[in-house]
Amino acid sequence: MRTLKHSRQREAIKEFLMTRTDHPTADIVYDNLRNEFPNISLGTVYRNLALLSEIGEIQKLTTGTGADRFDGNINPHYHFICKECHCVQDLKMDTMDALTEEASKHFDGKLDGHLAYFYGTCGDCIKKS
Ligand code: ZN
Ligand code: MN
Repeated sequence: MRTLKHSRQREAIKEFLMTRTDHPTADIVYDNLRNEFPNISLGTVYRNLALLSEIGEIQKLTTGTGADRFDGNINPHYHFICKECHCVQDLKMDTMDALTEEASKHFDGKLDGHLAYFYGTCGDCIKKS
């Protein structure tokens, strides 16, 4: 029973992330899941997010500023981080396999791929300033 309940919550966390494109933090996931699971704890949310990212069903984004963010889209894609409001957005462009190939020429081993975070000011922050 306990296992079933926990996997229902895990499934709900994954489904919630699939509906979002703003890469929520664990706290935001927790706030939203409480509607459906009033007894869910922040610890449970953290554990399930860690598990889901370990098994590759979601992506964990460590942005270097503030809390980790989570992404229901596991297809390789690039991210942008705003230095003003710290929003994390997807870049609508193909990932560059040529970059991994080029890096491989300078690396004694096997490269599987690469991640990239672009930094700057988002459109909304530019309009506000
Ligand atoms: Zn911004
Ligand atoms: Mn993303």
